[in-house]
Amino acid sequence: MIDGDALARVNRVLRTLRAGHRTLLRAAAEAELVQAMCRVLVDEGGYRIVWIGYADHDRERTIRPVAHAGSHASFFADAHFSWSDDRPSVSGEAIRTGKPSIGRQLQSDPLLARWRTDALRRGYGSVSAFPLRAGGEIIGCLTLVAADEAAFDEPETALLAELADDLGYGIAHLRMLARHAEAERTIERMAYHDPLTGLPNRAAMRERITTAVADAREHGHALALLSIHIGHFDEIGDTLGHAAGDRLITDIAERVAAVARSGQDALARIGEDELALLLHDADSHRACDVAARIVDALYRPVELAGMQVDARGVIGIALFPGHGDEPDELMRRAKVAMYRASAHGHFALYSGLHDDERRRRLGLIGDLRRAIDADELTLYCQPKVAIDTSRFCGAEALMRWKHPEQGMVSPAVFVELAESAGLITPLTHWVLEAAFRERHRWHAASFDQPLAVNLSARDLHDPRLVDRVRDLIATWGTQDGWMEFELTESALMVDPETVIETLGRLRDLGIELMVDDYGTGYSSLRYLQQLPVSSIKIDQSFVRRMLDDPESAAIVRSTVELCHALHMRAIAEGVENEPVFDALSALGCDAAQGYYVGKPLPVTDFPEWARASRWASVVQTSVT
Ligand code: C2E
Ligand code: CA
Ligand code: CA
Repeated sequence: MIDGDALARVNRVLRTLRAGHRTLLRAAAEAELVQAMCRVLVDEGGYRIVWIGYADHDRERTIRPVAHAGSHASFFADAHFSWSDDRPSVSGEAIRTGKPSIGRQLQSDPLLARWRTDALRRGYGSVSAFPLRAGGEIIGCLTLVAADEAAFDEPETALLAELADDLGYGIAHLRMLARHAEAERTIERMAYHDPLTGLPNRAAMRERITTAVADAREHGHALALLSIHIGHFDEIGDTLGHAAGDRLITDIAERVAAVARSGQDALARIGEDELALLLHDADSHRACDVAARIVDALYRPVELAGMQVDARGVIGIALFPGHGDEPDELMRRAKVAMYRASAHGHFALYSGLHDDERRRRLGLIGDLRRAIDADELTLYCQPKVAIDTSRFCGAEALMRWKHPEQGMVSPAVFVELAESAGLITPLTHWVLEAAFRERHRWHAASFDQPLAVNLSARDLHDPRLVDRVRDLIATWGTQDGWMEFELTESALMVDPETVIETLGRLRDLGIELMVDDYGTGYSSLRYLQQLPVSSIKIDQSFVRRMLDDPESAAIVRSTVELCHALHMRAIAEGVENEPVFDALSALGCDAAQGYYVGKPLPVTDFPEWARASRWASVVQTSVT
């Protein structure tokens, strides 16, 4: 039987609980939430004082009040709360034990001795404290003071304990949102900055050129864009290591910056081994003068790993309005001029007449057209391993072109070429055909690992893509989860409505979808969340430097966390050594791909290689 008083108390507490839940739903920030909760408990619950304190891990084990309501300010002004053993208190006990400390009576309880005189004068009768848990850890307590000595009976404390749990959960949730917002800000910043040099990147340079062109048009000025290519960058990276390559870039960027007019000229890193310098109000004469001074500044060798390394650069120049007014066009033409400079000297102005590069590209496009039929393309693949088990969890299919004269042409070159020449659709169809066929062979050899194919932006807008995939599934008896598609962030950003629809249809066909090169183009997580993708591949540029560069490390860490919050898998690309693998493991990253796990190799050799490799324990033995 519950007596009338007790019933009134339960009703009051239920009302309080409802108001508390409304507060939880409404609060957008932690400070606002804890304050509003104290307020509600005083206003609706009728408690005399309600306060929330966080447990600091300092020497005194301070409980730091972060919100309170109903009290005289002086109550908090002079008090020092602690959760240490030597200074027993109700709140401290809740934090120390992780259990509620219930209905302590002010008149008699030894825990409250220190407060007795003051509290009695103010008419306080009893105190309860509830631990607050966030993310599996006790972060502080919720303490309530009632006038009534008999307050905090069983039903009341049960409901308050529930509210304290919800509050802890609410705090954890808001903290997660705050971390995610911070990560998004970092990623946004990274989208416009090169993490190594701190210089603006290609995307930022593109925007600067657009603004500068508009400005130059208005004032009738000319502009010059210098493309500065750092020689031997790859060789230095390969022989002396990435750290040396990084030092080289940083050193050269500093020298170029010293030649530029600060505040007027804009310097950016627009490629691995390429800087760009935009000169405002500059004609060809001044551009050549600056180029010559940069060549001089680069004359002195750079000391790397105790060796004197040649820091030579070659420079190509394109001008507005003479050579174009679009950022990409100017960057491309400056680069073409740079190629010419490398053959003839240190720097060169763009000249349409000597457009060797254009001829070369045109030649390659013609060759590529033939290559698709002439069997010059082959499929390689590169393993991925699950980090927790160190076992295979799939492979990525990578195209290779064996050009009859030029040897292996990298997909980094010919995929872009194919995209610009409208050849990507036949190329993708070729890869899909090859990948589905190989995947079937793997299955026949009892080698069942998912195989991922890269799709280009244009593929997602190819009206025949979904039908083509459906045909291949039927032809090769492809089962759900056998095939995966990797899509770059930038591909996902073009015409989102069509993309979402196409992805949905592919997903319905049993294809797993993943976001490639994450972090290189700024796509908002809110958008990614709407896509039926199951994994995110963190771009290699962040993974490779995560042990040297705190910003890259922060991106990797927050991306892993975000993936998990969105119930997606995080895959790190470009894992080149064991320390990086171990660091990813510590962050809870799900899978790794990179030279440390294995380099790309012909897809037909893959099952045999995989069975012999150290990551093989999961691979079933052949039944043939
Ligand atoms: P991606 O999709 O980001 O592929 C990963 C690239 O990084 C591959 O270069 C791979 O060989 C390289 N890589 C893998 N692990 C490491 C590592 O530990 N360190 C370093 N430094 N590099 C590593 P690859 O094969 O030259 O491909 C370059 C790009 O070409 C790919 O980048 C992808 O965007 C594109 N691509 C390749 N095959 C296809 C294809 O079939 N279709 C389409 N549309 N694009 C493709
Ligand atoms: Ca890829
Ligand atoms: Ca990638």
